[in-house]
Amino acid sequence: MSRVKAGLKIVLLVLGAAMLGWVYGYPATAVIITLTAIIFFWLYQIDKVQSWLSDPERNLPETYGIWSDLLALIYFHQRKSAAVQAQLQSTIEYMQSSLAVIRDGVVMVDEYGVIIWFNRSVEPLLGLRYSEDTGQRLTNLVRDPAFNNYFLAGDYSEPLQFEAAGKRELVFLRVEITHFGEGDRVLFIRDISDSVRMEQMRSDFVANVSHELRTPLTVISGYLGTMKANCEDLPQRYRKPLEQMGEQAHRMESLVRDLLWLSKIESDQNARLDETVDIRGLLQELRDELGEAYPQATLVLELSSEQSITGSYHQLYSAVSNLVINAIKYSGENSTVTIAWFEERGKNRLSVTDTGIGIDAIHLPRLTERFYRVDESRNSTTGGTGLGLAIVKHVAAAHDARLLVESRVGEGSAFTLVFSSGG
Ligand code: ADP
Repeated sequence: MSRVKAGLKIVLLVLGAAMLGWVYGYPATAVIITLTAIIFFWLYQIDKVQSWLSDPERNLPETYGIWSDLLALIYFHQRKSAAVQAQLQSTIEYMQSSLAVIRDGVVMVDEYGVIIWFNRSVEPLLGLRYSEDTGQRLTNLVRDPAFNNYFLAGDYSEPLQFEAAGKRELVFLRVEITHFGEGDRVLFIRDISDSVRMEQMRSDFVANVSHELRTPLTVISGYLGTMKANCEDLPQRYRKPLEQMGEQAHRMESLVRDLLWLSKIESDQNARLDETVDIRGLLQELRDELGEAYPQATLVLELSSEQSITGSYHQLYSAVSNLVINAIKYSGENSTVTIAWFEERGKNRLSVTDTGIGIDAIHLPRLTERFYRVDESRNSTTGGTGLGLAIVKHVAAAHDARLLVESRVGEGSAFTLVFSSGG
């Protein structure tokens, strides 16, 4: 509207000047003088607006007509964006002050790994100095190889737990990294020493109890064996209980053996397992041994990979034999179990496939928990300890591998160890 008004004003002015000029006999000169005056007036107004824009802190200049409207509009938008900016700034400050007081360490780094900001809790955890270290590359300041490898590898799907180097007492840290913005990352670091110590105590306790149970169990089993061997001297009514006591003592021995083995694998988890394990040879040996022990099943080997694995022969043998024995146990008579060693999508894979009873999908997430059983009523018939898959899971973790389980009720199951290395 103001544009129409301004246009109308100019037209009226020019018309007035033309009429006045016509009265005095110089209409064209009058129009030119009027237009020149208008142009100068506009230039003057533009100059005022421009000098104010270059320093908006100054008071608003006095302008007229369309220039006054334009200035008001600019002023309005400027105030609005200043308010939005102030709000954003206060949100950032609020976020930073809340992150600054939490007990977990928080570090923000840019796409090049240069520290943008970190809170005070990071100082004792990673040894950074608040006043000096912003703007430095994080991996230049944290010298821990486990941390640096994890940070640089860029795969943050699983958090990292590691023992912090250079501390007076044992300190365990857990690091989670998340991407945000364009390549920036935020790291959350927590001291988990207490829970690691608790876990260590629990594991030591189980190992000690199992160890202490071994001697009395051996004595009980020994006497039971002697009594069984001479059972014709015993009254008939003691024979069945004696047999059951023998079976239960044998079960307890298996349980104690598996618990001790699990504790050993757990405590070995951080140790370097550096044997070169020829998986083909291992599987052939396992097939011969289990084929003899379980003649009811046919064990088929499919060895398409030549790759070896760095780790522990003993642990891998025990994990695969648990998988194969399960496959035989949870399949009917005359079953076929296929053991395959192959490479797929750049990873070495070891799979054990059966055509047995299968497992309902709801059980899969809990299957590797100690003593978890799909069907409690079967545990006495199958003779398992309930620790087999927990052992497999720990061996997998110690070898940087994942255990994948695919199964269909009534059709069978496939347990696959996927190693992070490939050929
Ligand atoms: P268990 O000593 O009872 O076999 P595991 O830890 O080896 O203990 O296995 C846990 C449970 O997973 C088993 O009780 C069984 O219900 C189920 N399971 C394991 N392997 C198989 C398989 N190949 N087919 C069907 N069920 C299986």
